[in-house]
Amino acid sequence: MNSKENPKKKECDKGILKKFKMRLDLIFDYNGLVNQGATCYLNSVLQVLFMTKDFREAVESHCGQDQKTADFHLKSLFKTLKTSETHTKDILSILGIGNVYEQRDAAEYFENILSMVSPCVSKIFKGHLRHTMRCSEGHVTNDETGPFWTLPLSMENPSNSNKTYSVREGFEEFFKSSTVGGMYCDQCNEKTDSTIACKMEHPPEILTLLLKRFEFDYRRMSYVKNDCCVDVPHTLRTKDCDYELYAVVDHVGSLRGGHYTAKIKSYQNHNWYVFDDSYVTQVCFLVN
Ligand SMILES: [Zn+2]
Repeated sequence: MNSKENPKKKECDKGILKKFKMRLDLIFDYNGLVNQGATCYLNSVLQVLFMTKDFREAVESHCGQDQKTADFHLKSLFKTLKTSETHTKDILSILGIGNVYEQRDAAEYFENILSMVSPCVSKIFKGHLRHTMRCSEGHVTNDETGPFWTLPLSMENPSNSNKTYSVREGFEEFFKSSTVGGMYCDQCNEKTDSTIACKMEHPPEILTLLLKRFEFDYRRMSYVKNDCCVDVPHTLRTKDCDYELYAVVDHVGSLRGGHYTAKIKSYQNHNWYVFDDSYVTQVCFLVN
């Protein structure tokens, strides 16, 4: 049979194989992380860290052999993740997560991981804020500078009638001055209205914004999730630098039950992917 095969048919088969191969390449650009129970919050964060070029390179250049460090386990995880799907048991252990079936907060574990790795690995995410308080006469009554990993943006009062929250406006709001009454000033020797101003003392190389969808509702005396639509800009211009969006961690569902996924733009091929535990799919944008 082989020697008498129709040459045209052979070409046709090759075409099918070629297309099939291309499709496989598309699917296996990146690998997933196994959900150990309800650990999607951790998987989403780990994929963002893996897909952050400078962070991945800093982790990979770590040469210590101390198996108690987060750097060691991240390096091992990233090495495997480059070629195949893997689990996160060692990372869960080093983070002290015993109950893998308990839903937890992705932002909290993002900060936990950054606090545990070496400063040279986490530094690209670290910024500094300066809070200055002045009395009504302009005397500085308090001046503090502190580090941050994420900027928490309150999502109260969506700015337009469609109840769409604007990240750009929320970011600007974060740095607006606010007034508090009854603060004591040594120089005035009395309590006065004071103004608190916040500014970015040192902008981080990679800026992480936390949209506070879960806030305490004093009328219901419980946490509630704000489900409003969010307008996320692809670029964010600040006084010191311009930021370009490359990763979003999403949460669907409620406070009691939900699911985290991450949408990330690859620095290698510039395509966007959805990382949903074991499943990684390329996002196709439809252009009208
Ligand atoms: Zn004063």
